Amino acid sequence: WSSETVAAVTGSNRGIGYEIARQLAVHGLHVIVTSRDSKHGREVVGSLREDGLSVDYCQLDVLNEVSIQTFARWISEKYGGLDILVNNAGVNFNTGSDNSVEYAERVINTNYFGVKRMIEAVIPIMRPSIYGARILNVSSRLGRANGRRNRVDDMTLREQLLRDECLSEELIDGMVLKFLDQVKNGTWVSNGWPQMFTDYSISKLAVNTYTRLMAKRLSTKPDGEKVYINCFCPGWVKTAMTGWQGNVSAEEGADTGVWVVLKPGRPDTGKFFAERREISF
Ligand code: NDP
Repeated sequence: WSSETVAAVTGSNRGIGYEIARQLAVHGLHVIVTSRDSKHGREVVGSLREDGLSVDYCQLDVLNEVSIQTFARWISEKYGGLDILVNNAGVNFNTGSDNSVEYAERVINTNYFGVKRMIEAVIPIMRPSIYGARILNVSSRLGRANGRRNRVDDMTLREQLLRDECLSEELIDGMVLKFLDQVKNGTWVSNGWPQMFTDYSISKLAVNTYTRLMAKRLSTKPDGEKVYINCFCPGWVKTAMTGWQGNVSAEEGADTGVWVVLKPGRPDTGKFFAERREISF
Protein backbone atom coordinates (compact mmCIF):
# COMPACT_ATOMS: atom_id res chain seq x y z
CA TRP A 1 0.00 0.00 0.00
CA SER A 2 1.16 3.55 -0.64
CA SER A 3 0.01 7.14 -0.88
CA GLU A 4 -1.22 6.19 -4.37
CA THR A 5 -3.73 3.77 -2.83
CA VAL A 6 -7.17 5.38 -2.83
CA ALA A 7 -9.62 4.26 -0.13
CA ALA A 8 -13.13 5.60 0.48
CA VAL A 9 -15.22 5.16 3.63
CA THR A 10 -18.98 5.79 3.74
CA GLY A 11 -20.31 7.75 6.73
CA SER A 12 -16.79 8.73 7.81
CA ASN A 13 -17.65 12.07 9.40
CA ARG A 14 -18.01 10.41 12.81
CA GLY A 15 -17.97 7.21 14.84
CA ILE A 16 -16.35 4.01 13.57
CA GLY A 17 -16.26 5.27 9.97
CA TYR A 18 -14.24 8.32 10.97
CA GLU A 19 -11.79 6.10 12.85
CA ILE A 20 -11.41 3.68 9.93
CA ALA A 21 -10.73 6.62 7.60
CA ARG A 22 -8.26 8.20 10.03
CA GLN A 23 -6.37 4.95 10.69
CA LEU A 24 -6.12 4.12 6.96
CA ALA A 25 -4.68 7.60 6.39
CA VAL A 26 -2.24 7.09 9.30
CA HIS A 27 -1.09 3.94 7.46
CA GLY A 28 -0.18 6.21 4.53
CA LEU A 29 -3.15 5.66 2.20
CA HIS A 30 -4.98 8.49 0.46
CA VAL A 31 -8.45 8.45 2.01
CA ILE A 32 -11.71 9.89 0.70
CA VAL A 33 -13.86 10.96 3.63
CA THR A 34 -17.54 10.97 2.72
CA SER A 35 -20.66 12.16 4.52
CA ARG A 36 -24.27 13.13 3.92
CA ASP A 37 -23.66 16.62 5.26
CA SER A 38 -20.84 18.28 3.34
CA LYS A 39 -20.22 21.06 5.90
CA HIS A 40 -19.50 18.53 8.64
CA GLY A 41 -17.50 16.30 6.29
CA ARG A 42 -15.29 19.17 5.11
CA GLU A 43 -14.57 20.20 8.71
CA VAL A 44 -13.44 16.65 9.45
CA VAL A 45 -11.18 16.67 6.38
CA GLY A 46 -9.73 20.02 7.46
CA SER A 47 -8.74 18.69 10.88
CA LEU A 48 -7.28 15.44 9.46
CA ARG A 49 -5.19 17.54 7.06
CA GLU A 50 -3.95 19.63 9.99
CA ASP A 51 -2.64 16.34 11.39
CA GLY A 52 -0.67 15.88 8.17
CA LEU A 53 -2.90 13.13 6.72
CA SER A 54 -3.63 12.72 3.02
CA VAL A 55 -7.41 13.02 2.68
CA ASP A 56 -9.97 14.35 0.25
CA TYR A 57 -13.73 14.85 0.52
CA CYS A 58 -16.83 13.84 -1.43
CA GLN A 59 -20.48 14.18 -0.40
CA LEU A 60 -22.21 10.78 -0.35
CA ASP A 61 -25.65 9.68 0.79
CA VAL A 62 -26.07 5.93 0.36
CA LEU A 63 -29.86 6.33 0.15
CA ASN A 64 -29.52 8.57 -2.89
CA GLU A 65 -28.70 6.98 -6.24
CA VAL A 66 -27.76 10.35 -7.80
CA SER A 67 -25.31 11.05 -4.96
CA ILE A 68 -23.77 7.57 -5.38
CA GLN A 69 -23.37 7.97 -9.15
CA THR A 70 -21.86 11.46 -8.69
CA PHE A 71 -19.37 10.02 -6.18
CA ALA A 72 -18.37 7.16 -8.54
CA ARG A 73 -17.90 9.56 -11.47
CA TRP A 74 -15.87 11.99 -9.33
CA ILE A 75 -13.55 9.19 -8.11
CA SER A 76 -13.15 7.89 -11.62
CA GLU A 77 -12.33 11.30 -13.13
CA LYS A 78 -10.09 12.52 -10.31
CA TYR A 79 -8.25 9.30 -9.38
CA GLY A 80 -8.85 6.92 -12.26
CA GLY A 81 -10.65 4.52 -9.88
CA LEU A 82 -10.80 3.17 -6.35
CA ASP A 83 -8.64 0.56 -4.56
CA ILE A 84 -10.57 0.14 -1.32
CA LEU A 85 -14.18 0.78 -0.32
CA VAL A 86 -15.39 0.51 3.27
CA ASN A 87 -19.19 0.38 3.55
CA ASN A 88 -19.63 1.76 7.05
CA ALA A 89 -22.71 4.04 6.87
CA GLY A 90 -25.53 2.67 8.94
CA VAL A 91 -28.51 3.49 11.14
CA ASN A 92 -30.20 1.76 14.05
CA PHE A 93 -33.39 2.85 15.79
CA ASN A 94 -34.00 -0.35 17.77
CA THR A 95 -34.20 0.65 21.40
CA GLY A 96 -36.99 -1.65 22.49
CA SER A 97 -39.41 -4.25 21.25
CA ASP A 98 -41.28 -2.09 18.76
CA ASN A 99 -40.59 -2.12 15.05
CA SER A 100 -42.04 0.99 13.43
CA VAL A 101 -42.65 0.49 9.72
CA GLU A 102 -40.86 3.74 8.89
CA TYR A 103 -37.76 2.84 10.92
CA ALA A 104 -37.65 -0.72 9.62
CA GLU A 105 -37.72 0.58 6.03
CA ARG A 106 -35.00 3.17 6.75
CA VAL A 107 -32.75 0.59 8.42
CA ILE A 108 -33.08 -2.04 5.67
CA ASN A 109 -32.75 0.59 2.97
CA THR A 110 -29.60 2.17 4.46
CA ASN A 111 -27.81 -0.81 5.99
CA TYR A 112 -28.51 -3.40 3.28
CA PHE A 113 -29.69 -1.74 0.06
CA GLY A 114 -27.22 1.14 0.64
CA VAL A 115 -24.33 -1.35 0.75
CA LYS A 116 -25.66 -3.08 -2.35
CA ARG A 117 -26.07 0.18 -4.27
CA MET A 118 -22.50 1.20 -3.33
CA ILE A 119 -21.01 -2.13 -4.41
CA GLU A 120 -22.85 -2.07 -7.74
CA ALA A 121 -21.60 1.48 -8.37
CA VAL A 122 -17.94 0.89 -7.50
CA ILE A 123 -17.26 -2.55 -9.02
CA PRO A 124 -16.76 -1.01 -12.49
CA ILE A 125 -14.28 1.56 -11.12
CA MET A 126 -12.23 -0.70 -8.82
CA ARG A 127 -8.59 -0.49 -9.98
CA PRO A 128 -6.67 -3.65 -10.75
CA SER A 129 -3.63 -3.93 -8.49
CA ILE A 130 -1.11 -6.46 -7.26
CA TYR A 131 -2.88 -6.52 -3.89
CA GLY A 132 -6.35 -6.90 -5.41
CA ALA A 133 -9.05 -4.28 -4.90
CA ARG A 134 -10.85 -4.66 -1.60
CA ILE A 135 -14.32 -4.05 -0.21
CA LEU A 136 -15.12 -4.24 3.49
CA ASN A 137 -18.65 -4.17 4.89
CA VAL A 138 -19.09 -3.04 8.49
CA SER A 139 -21.54 -5.56 9.88
CA SER A 140 -22.49 -7.00 13.25
CA ARG A 141 -22.61 -10.28 15.13
CA LEU A 142 -26.33 -9.50 15.47
CA GLY A 143 -26.53 -10.53 11.81
CA ARG A 144 -25.39 -14.11 12.38
CA ALA A 145 -27.92 -16.63 11.05
CA ASN A 146 -27.28 -18.78 14.12
CA GLY A 147 -26.86 -15.86 16.50
CA ARG A 148 -28.44 -15.65 19.92
CA ARG A 149 -30.43 -12.51 19.16
CA ASN A 150 -31.15 -13.19 15.52
CA ARG A 151 -31.48 -16.94 15.21
CA VAL A 152 -33.35 -17.56 11.98
CA ASP A 153 -36.13 -19.87 13.19
CA ASP A 154 -37.27 -20.79 9.69
CA MET A 155 -35.00 -23.84 9.21
CA THR A 156 -35.32 -23.86 5.42
CA LEU A 157 -34.36 -20.20 5.20
CA ARG A 158 -31.48 -20.60 7.68
CA GLU A 159 -30.11 -23.53 5.70
CA GLN A 160 -30.40 -21.62 2.43
CA LEU A 161 -28.66 -18.57 3.92
CA LEU A 162 -25.76 -20.68 5.19
CA ARG A 163 -25.23 -22.81 2.07
CA ASP A 164 -23.12 -21.12 -0.60
CA GLU A 165 -24.81 -22.98 -3.45
CA CYS A 166 -28.22 -21.56 -2.39
CA LEU A 167 -27.14 -17.91 -2.36
CA SER A 168 -28.79 -15.46 -4.73
CA GLU A 169 -29.91 -11.85 -4.75
CA GLU A 170 -33.50 -13.10 -4.98
CA LEU A 171 -33.04 -15.05 -1.74
CA ILE A 172 -31.61 -12.08 0.20
CA ASP A 173 -33.85 -9.36 -1.25
CA GLY A 174 -36.83 -11.69 -0.87
CA MET A 175 -36.02 -12.23 2.81
CA VAL A 176 -35.79 -8.51 3.66
CA LEU A 177 -38.83 -7.52 1.58
CA LYS A 178 -40.92 -10.30 3.12
CA PHE A 179 -39.78 -9.17 6.58
CA LEU A 180 -40.85 -5.57 5.80
CA ASP A 181 -44.29 -6.84 4.76
CA GLN A 182 -44.50 -8.76 8.05
CA VAL A 183 -43.61 -5.59 10.00
CA LYS A 184 -46.37 -3.74 8.12
CA ASN A 185 -48.97 -6.31 9.14
CA GLY A 186 -47.50 -6.97 12.59
CA THR A 187 -46.69 -10.65 11.98
CA TRP A 188 -42.88 -10.73 12.10
CA VAL A 189 -42.78 -12.50 15.48
CA SER A 190 -45.33 -15.14 14.50
CA ASN A 191 -43.24 -15.67 11.37
CA GLY A 192 -40.23 -16.70 13.45
CA TRP A 193 -38.24 -13.46 13.80
CA PRO A 194 -37.19 -12.26 17.25
CA GLN A 195 -39.20 -9.50 18.92
CA MET A 196 -36.20 -7.30 19.69
CA PHE A 197 -33.59 -5.54 17.56
CA THR A 198 -35.09 -7.21 14.54
CA ASP A 199 -34.81 -4.80 11.61
CA TYR A 200 -31.21 -3.91 12.44
CA SER A 201 -30.24 -7.58 12.88
CA ILE A 202 -31.91 -8.59 9.63
CA SER A 203 -30.20 -5.73 7.76
CA LYS A 204 -26.82 -7.09 8.94
CA LEU A 205 -27.82 -10.70 8.22
CA ALA A 206 -28.55 -9.52 4.66
CA VAL A 207 -25.18 -7.70 4.48
CA ASN A 208 -23.32 -10.80 5.67
CA THR A 209 -25.09 -13.04 3.18
CA TYR A 210 -24.59 -10.54 0.34
CA THR A 211 -20.87 -10.37 1.20
CA ARG A 212 -20.60 -14.14 0.66
CA LEU A 213 -22.64 -14.00 -2.56
CA MET A 214 -20.45 -11.20 -3.99
CA ALA A 215 -17.24 -12.97 -2.93
CA LYS A 216 -18.38 -15.99 -4.93
CA ARG A 217 -19.27 -13.88 -7.97
CA LEU A 218 -16.15 -11.73 -7.87
CA SER A 219 -13.86 -14.76 -7.54
CA THR A 220 -14.54 -15.57 -11.20
CA LYS A 221 -12.78 -12.38 -12.33
CA PRO A 222 -9.39 -12.97 -13.94
CA ASP A 223 -6.23 -12.56 -11.86
CA GLY A 224 -5.18 -8.91 -11.76
CA GLU A 225 -8.82 -7.79 -11.81
CA LYS A 226 -9.88 -9.53 -8.62
CA VAL A 227 -11.95 -7.76 -6.00
CA TYR A 228 -11.89 -9.25 -2.49
CA ILE A 229 -14.84 -8.63 -0.19
CA ASN A 230 -15.26 -9.32 3.51
CA CYS A 231 -17.26 -8.11 6.49
CA PHE A 232 -16.47 -7.49 10.14
CA CYS A 233 -18.06 -6.76 13.49
CA PRO A 234 -16.46 -3.87 15.41
CA GLY A 235 -17.82 -5.07 18.78
CA TRP A 236 -20.10 -3.02 21.02
CA VAL A 237 -18.71 0.44 20.43
CA LYS A 238 -19.15 3.74 22.26
CA THR A 239 -20.67 5.86 19.49
CA ALA A 240 -23.86 7.86 18.94
CA MET A 241 -25.48 4.65 17.66
CA THR A 242 -25.21 2.96 21.06
CA GLY A 243 -25.90 6.17 23.02
CA TRP A 244 -22.18 6.11 23.96
CA GLN A 245 -22.61 2.82 25.78
CA GLY A 246 -20.53 -0.14 24.66
CA ASN A 247 -17.28 -1.57 25.92
CA VAL A 248 -14.77 -0.39 23.32
CA SER A 249 -13.87 2.99 21.86
CA ALA A 250 -14.41 3.85 18.18
CA GLU A 251 -10.64 3.62 17.78
CA GLU A 252 -10.64 0.01 19.05
CA GLY A 253 -13.80 -0.81 17.09
CA ALA A 254 -12.16 0.30 13.85
CA ASP A 255 -9.01 -1.75 14.45
CA THR A 256 -10.14 -5.10 13.00
CA GLY A 257 -11.59 -3.38 9.92
CA VAL A 258 -8.31 -1.64 9.16
CA TRP A 259 -6.43 -4.89 9.82
CA VAL A 260 -8.65 -6.83 7.36
CA VAL A 261 -8.36 -4.22 4.65
CA LEU A 262 -4.57 -3.94 4.86
CA LYS A 263 -3.80 -7.62 5.52
CA PRO A 264 -0.72 -8.60 3.53
CA GLY A 265 -0.38 -11.83 1.58
CA ARG A 266 -3.12 -13.67 -0.26
CA PRO A 267 -6.31 -11.75 0.59
CA ASP A 268 -9.30 -13.44 2.20
CA THR A 269 -12.68 -13.16 0.57
CA GLY A 270 -16.22 -13.93 1.72
CA LYS A 271 -15.14 -14.03 5.37
CA PHE A 272 -16.45 -12.52 8.61
CA PHE A 273 -14.00 -11.07 11.17
CA ALA A 274 -13.97 -9.70 14.73
CA GLU A 275 -11.12 -8.97 17.14
CA ARG A 276 -8.57 -9.74 14.39
CA ARG A 277 -9.78 -13.28 13.77
CA GLU A 278 -12.25 -15.04 11.53
CA ILE A 279 -15.67 -15.80 13.03
CA SER A 280 -18.59 -17.87 11.73
CA PHE A 281 -21.61 -16.53 9.89
P1 NDP B 1 -22.76 6.42 14.19
O1 NDP B 1 -24.22 6.64 14.37
O2 NDP B 1 -21.80 7.07 15.09
O3 NDP B 1 -22.33 6.76 12.70
C1 NDP B 1 -23.10 6.35 11.61
C2 NDP B 1 -22.53 7.00 10.36
O4 NDP B 1 -23.32 6.56 9.24
C3 NDP B 1 -22.63 8.53 10.40
O5 NDP B 1 -21.51 9.08 9.77
C4 NDP B 1 -23.89 8.79 9.59
O6 NDP B 1 -23.93 10.07 8.98
C5 NDP B 1 -23.73 7.72 8.53
N1 NDP B 1 -24.95 7.52 7.76
C6 NDP B 1 -26.17 7.16 8.19
N2 NDP B 1 -27.03 7.13 7.15
C7 NDP B 1 -26.32 7.47 6.04
C8 NDP B 1 -26.63 7.61 4.69
N3 NDP B 1 -27.87 7.44 4.21
N4 NDP B 1 -25.63 7.94 3.82
C9 NDP B 1 -24.38 8.15 4.26
N5 NDP B 1 -24.03 8.06 5.55
C10 NDP B 1 -24.98 7.71 6.43
O7 NDP B 1 -22.62 4.83 14.26
P2 NDP B 1 -21.35 3.86 14.39
O8 NDP B 1 -20.10 4.56 14.06
O9 NDP B 1 -21.50 3.14 15.66
O10 NDP B 1 -21.70 2.81 13.23
C11 NDP B 1 -20.93 2.63 12.07
C12 NDP B 1 -21.22 1.26 11.50
O11 NDP B 1 -20.85 0.26 12.47
C13 NDP B 1 -22.69 1.00 11.18
O12 NDP B 1 -22.80 0.27 9.99
C14 NDP B 1 -23.14 0.18 12.37
O13 NDP B 1 -24.27 -0.63 12.06
C15 NDP B 1 -21.91 -0.65 12.63
N6 NDP B 1 -21.84 -1.24 13.96
C16 NDP B 1 -21.80 -0.45 15.08
C17 NDP B 1 -21.74 -1.02 16.33
C18 NDP B 1 -21.66 -0.23 17.59
O14 NDP B 1 -21.63 -0.83 18.68
N7 NDP B 1 -21.57 1.11 17.52
C19 NDP B 1 -21.75 -2.50 16.49
C20 NDP B 1 -21.78 -3.24 15.26
C21 NDP B 1 -21.83 -2.61 14.05
P3 NDP B 1 -24.65 11.36 9.69
O15 NDP B 1 -23.60 11.98 10.58
O16 NDP B 1 -25.04 12.22 8.53
O17 NDP B 1 -25.83 10.84 10.46
